[in-house]
Amino acid sequence: MYLRDWWDEAMHPDATTAGGVRLMLWARYQHIDLKFAAPPASEKFEASWDGGGSAVADSEEELISTVLEVLQDCGSGRHDWVFVGEKPDPNNVGQILRTQKLECSSCDSRVRVITAPAPCRKKGPTEID
Ligand SMILES: [Zn+2]
Repeated sequence: MYLRDWWDEAMHPDATTAGGVRLMLWARYQHIDLKFAAPPASEKFEASWDGGGSAVADSEEELISTVLEVLQDCGSGRHDWVFVGEKPDPNNVGQILRTQKLECSSCDSRVRVITAPAPCRKKGPTEID
């Protein structure tokens, strides 16, 4: 019973606090390596992600709302990206292109393609790194 309660807390952070939303976003946008920094480690509240995206603000609340806007995310816990399909990335060996569809009652449905590491497989004897 305790374990289940704990998991629920970890899987569904409290989205009414900036810290909870930050945790949720961090988990949701791992594929673009979303990172957060806060004083004193950085000058201001900062977020950055792959592709040159970044945001800076004076408070965590302000930062979260900016990041949500840029990433077109309503910030709800039910903003779910659902698996559609995947195929090998023709440009990157060892990577796959995964197609996902947004299912959210507050946002328009849209599709995104993310790059993810391909499932591990043993290298053949003729393959080199
Ligand atoms: Zn949404």
